[in-house]
Amino acid sequence: MPVEHGLSFRKLKREVNGRILDLATELGFEESSSEATAFCECERPDCLQRIQLTLVEFQWALTPGCWLVAADHARPSTEHVIQRRGTYAVVRPALTPETSS
Ligand SMILES: [Zn+2]
Repeated sequence: MPVEHGLSFRKLKREVNGRILDLATELGFEESSSEATAFCECERPDCLQRIQLTLVEFQWALTPGCWLVAADHARPSTEHVIQRRGTYAVVRPALTPETSS
């Protein structure tokens, strides 16, 4: 599967993150105290930055429609930062620009 655009790479990283979380859950990691390592899901086509977070935070960050990114990889111009905590941020892409204004 060729990775042509930032978007598809981003989706791929989301899939990997989902599996990391599944695996950690399957292995019986304690949700509130165990940490797992996720990949930054920013749009940079070459970003492979890792983010350390607890499984609870991880689960929350993987909410559909949101992306988990390194704190300094959020793009406030195109994404709403929903939460910023330490080394990471959860962002939601701004929808198609309003044409009315
Ligand atoms: Zn990144």
